[in-house]
Amino acid sequence: MLLIGAPESGKTVLARALRGLLPPLSETEAAGVATLAAFAGTAVPEPPTVRPWIAPAPGVSAAALFGRHVRRSRPGLVSLAHRGALFLDDLPSFSARLVRLPTILDDRVVTIAHAAGALTLPAAFQLVATARPCPCGWFGDPEAICQCTPQQVRRY
Ligand SMILES: [Zn+2]
Repeated sequence: MLLIGAPESGKTVLARALRGLLPPLSETEAAGVATLAAFAGTAVPEPPTVRPWIAPAPGVSAAALFGRHVRRSRPGLVSLAHRGALFLDDLPSFSARLVRLPTILDDRVVTIAHAAGALTLPAAFQLVATARPCPCGWFGDPEAICQCTPQQVRRY
C-alpha cells in the first residue's frame, strides 16, 4: 500500500492506523515470529499475537534491512516484519537500498549469502509506504505551486 499526498496531509497517521486493523497472529504464526525474533536477538512483540510492525529509519543500511552474515547470519528487518508489516515512511528517501525489495515481495523470502553458501529466511510481510507526489510535495495540488522541474518530478 502506497499513500501519496502533500506534506502534512495525514499519510503517516493513516498508515499507522492500519496497525490496529491487522488481525491477531495464530499460535503457529506467533511461534514463527518469536523464533525469528530470538534468532535476531530482538524482543518478541508483546503480546505475542500482535503482528510485527517494523518501521525502519530512513538512514537504515541495506544489511540491516535484508540481513547480513558476519561470523553468523543475522535476520534483517524484512524477516522481523514476517507475518506483519514493513512501514517505509517517505519511501523515496530509502532509494537505492530498496533494489532487492520487489524480489523479496514476490518470493516472500530473503536470502543471506555468505562464504559457505546461503541462508533463506521467511519475509512475508505487507509493505506500507508513504511518499510525496514530488520532492517539494505540492505537484498536482489545486492550492499550492510545485517548485520542481518536470525532470525532478519524473525522477522522484
Ligand atoms: Zn514539487
